[in-house]
Amino acid sequence: MPVVISRPRSLSFKAESWFYMDVSRYKQRLSDLEASLSNRTTRDVESGREQLIDTAADAGDASVADESESEDFTEAQLDATILQQVQDALRRIENGTYGQCLIDRGPIDPKRLDAVPWAPYCIRHQKLREAASRPKPTL
Ligand SMILES: [Zn+2]
Repeated sequence: MPVVISRPRSLSFKAESWFYMDVSRYKQRLSDLEASLSNRTTRDVESGREQLIDTAADAGDASVADESESEDFTEAQLDATILQQVQDALRRIENGTYGQCLIDRGPIDPKRLDAVPWAPYCIRHQKLREAASRPKPTL
């Protein structure tokens, strides 16, 4: 069980500034995620790379380790990235902008938020960003 970090509950509930959707359940999930991720990242950030490579080697899948190596990408770094996004999402809940795309302020599909409660972009802009950050596939 993750240790829940106690945080000051200084927020006052401002119903009128909140997005029309029910954000309280997302807030609960995001708070839980933040607590468990911040535990994991502080503990594993040093050993994450070795663990990932060891795991890949044990599974006999060297390509996983190669890929992780070349992209300089570890589980701990992934945790840290998600933690950052989770904290940003919690901030957007406080600001009353949760559930809005950061680029066009359009609504993010609630189904998408159910799957990825920290999603900062609508599906269209998420795909555009992923396409931009990835090398173009050669056809
Ligand atoms: Zn958008």
